Amino acid sequence: MEILVTGGAGFIGSHLCEKLLNAHHDVTALDNLSTGKYANVAHLKGDKKFNLVVGSILDKKLIDKLCEKTDVIFHLAAAVGVELIVKEPLESLTTNIKGSEIVLDMARRYNKKVLITSTSEIYGKNTSGPLKEEDDRILGSPLKSRWSYSTAKAVDEMLAYVYWKEKGLPTIIVRLFNTVGPRQTGSYGMVIPRFVAQALKNEPLTVYGDGAQSRCFLHVQDAVGALVKLMERPQGAVGGVFNVGSQEEVTIKDLAEKIIQLTHSSSQIVYIPYDKAYEEGFEDMQRRVPDIGKIQRLIGYEPTVSLEGILKSVITYFKGRNSE
Ligand code: UDP
Repeated sequence: MEILVTGGAGFIGSHLCEKLLNAHHDVTALDNLSTGKYANVAHLKGDKKFNLVVGSILDKKLIDKLCEKTDVIFHLAAAVGVELIVKEPLESLTTNIKGSEIVLDMARRYNKKVLITSTSEIYGKNTSGPLKEEDDRILGSPLKSRWSYSTAKAVDEMLAYVYWKEKGLPTIIVRLFNTVGPRQTGSYGMVIPRFVAQALKNEPLTVYGDGAQSRCFLHVQDAVGALVKLMERPQGAVGGVFNVGSQEEVTIKDLAEKIIQLTHSSSQIVYIPYDKAYEEGFEDMQRRVPDIGKIQRLIGYEPTVSLEGILKSVITYFKGRNSE
């Protein structure tokens, strides 16, 4: 099959391309190399079935051409990372909303199936137990930049859904919960690559707030496995929205301690108020756990890598990079 992966040189996109190539598909990765990196896919360049196109999802003509020749589309290209969104809200909004609209519009022109990646940020401050796909979104003021990402992604979801409802375009929506693994950078705020880099340099681990907030981290291999299975599904996935995440919950303070222990680091933990870490009035989610019953029932999805396994794989990756 011919497959287009937007954001294909990004952290998750590059792992997805690899998986699709291993399954003998022809893969075109489209990436503007803003947060994506050539280095993420450099090892795939020798593969005749792989093609990297450097360009933007905002380039209508390019997207038209790519959609025409592909069979299906994984749309991952987006401005991601809370820190990046808070720093550059305008560009993030434009990329995430206009870009997705263009991809969906062009996919519709040729009636190509699209899987679109959304985010657990959709749920906002809703911390009530494991979050189900139909649960409410609880958001702060639209003038707080953090919520612009959640809002932009909600618009993407709505677009994908109505393209299916009104125009019959086969679309699938996936909400990824805190995906981590090799190649993820800490540059846009993500906590695990940050803490690991800090621990390996014996620098203080910067815990924001009091560290009592919790997350569930998912290994990128488990994430891309779910994306591929949903796309392959002949029935039941199209027109649906699915949480993809782990249910192994950890507080950020415990996470920092675990990373210090696994890296045998002499680092200490420092606590930084949210106002200093992000911006004044920044609001964090205290807890975020997915309900994964829906995807379990459809494709038998079960995360396979534990938190410890995730941390070890990220530590190995960072150690390898440091020795380059
Ligand atoms: N965080 C932290 N120190 C950092 C980066 C992040 O304590 O250096 C916290 C952040 O405030 C949040 C959690 O770790 O509570 C997860 O942050 P991340 O940006 O990885 O994901 P998200 O906020 O989207 O869950």
